[in-house]
Amino acid sequence: MKQLVLAGAGHAHLHVLKALAERPWPDVEVTLVSPYSRQIYSGMLPGWMAGHYSLDQCAAVLQPLLAAAGVRFVQDSVVGVDAPRRVIQTENCGEIAYDALSLDTGAQVELSSLVSTDATLLSIRPIEDFVVGWRRQLELFKQRGVASLAVVGGGAAGVELALAARYRLNRELGESKVWVKLVVGGGLLPGHGPSIVARVTKTLARHRIELVKGYASGCLSGLELRDGMMIPVDCIIAATGVKPATWLADSGLALAPDGFIAVEDGQKSVSHKEVFAAGDIASRIDVPHAKSGVYAVRAGPVLARNLNRALTGQVPQNYQPQKRSLYLLATGPKEAIMSWGRFSASGRWAWLWKDWIDRRFMRQYDINPTS
Ligand SMILES: Cc1cc2nc3c(=O)[nH]c(=O)nc-3n(C[C@H](O)[C@H](O)[C@H](O)COP(=O)(O)OP(=O)(O)OC[C@H]3O[C@@H](n4cnc5c(N)ncnc54)[C@H](O)[C@@H]3O)c2cc1C
Repeated sequence: MKQLVLAGAGHAHLHVLKALAERPWPDVEVTLVSPYSRQIYSGMLPGWMAGHYSLDQCAAVLQPLLAAAGVRFVQDSVVGVDAPRRVIQTENCGEIAYDALSLDTGAQVELSSLVSTDATLLSIRPIEDFVVGWRRQLELFKQRGVASLAVVGGGAAGVELALAARYRLNRELGESKVWVKLVVGGGLLPGHGPSIVARVTKTLARHRIELVKGYASGCLSGLELRDGMMIPVDCIIAATGVKPATWLADSGLALAPDGFIAVEDGQKSVSHKEVFAAGDIASRIDVPHAKSGVYAVRAGPVLARNLNRALTGQVPQNYQPQKRSLYLLATGPKEAIMSWGRFSASGRWAWLWKDWIDRRFMRQYDINPTS
């Protein structure tokens, strides 16, 4: 029996599990290592914060999928890979040997500049911890009757979280009792076109979210900008840049200049032909692209095919990630902003479209649908 180890239940691995459930691979024993028994879909998280979805609607429960796929589940965290020895190390369950390894454990949030604050600091990853922290903070805000909050990070996640928080807190406390700021060090939506940046800027202003430009660090009262300006807040949501897990550095795998696993065509490690990686943990060195869920999702089918091919001695299939991707940003109420290349538009229709795409995505992994 060949051993395939899937590390992390990220977007691409959900697809691998689904492929295995549809058609098992002969002579292969598959193990999934993941710290949680469900995978919360980040695309629906702002909708959950805003109160449009229950958490169950945003989470893929792994157990039925694993049972259908015949995959062994080790509920644990990967804390190391020893590529020369072909083993992974887990936090509590020791080492697991592999013939082929696929990594889809995502990225971590860069928090180092924010930790020295007395405000409540909520990191968006791990999402499971964020969910617990946000629920607790919402209750605290409700008890106090006022809320002051800053989201740090000008990417799509930061924008969506600031708008979702504002919408939810307005509903719970009333607009005049809520202060939300979005602090962007590297600019608003870096890498996106001017049309969507202008539209998002207008939307933030319409929802009375103050856009603060500058790099912030944590201080006793909340945040402090490099020019000395203080931003006193009760809660900080960190949606700052991504960083690789520290254990990658000692893995023996070739890493890209950004510290993530260097992969080439077919999502194959450039240094180890039996190792594959997809999603935020991987950096394509031949065709660099943004770290976003769209690419993690699209890599799923090719990853499934190539893991199967690697285990049966076949050459991996080529895969070119798309050059452009559709972005649909939730803006708090049931509205969204759509962007495609240089074009952007917004409205309720964009929310309905996003809602349809997100629910359809989640339905794929619900193998015991109740409705
Ligand atoms: C609020 C928010 C909104 C976003 N909106 C968008 C959007 O609209 N469009 C878009 O394209 N992108 C969006 N993103 C970015 C997107 O979420 C990420 O790019 C995407 O989740 C990356 O997918 P992944 O499969 O690499 O990892 P993840 O989705 O992070 O999954 C990683 C998995 O690995 C597990 N794991 C983590 N560490 C370990 C470990 N040590 N051992 C084992 N398992 C581990 C985790 O529990 C999880 O199951 C958003 C992100 C956030 C937070």
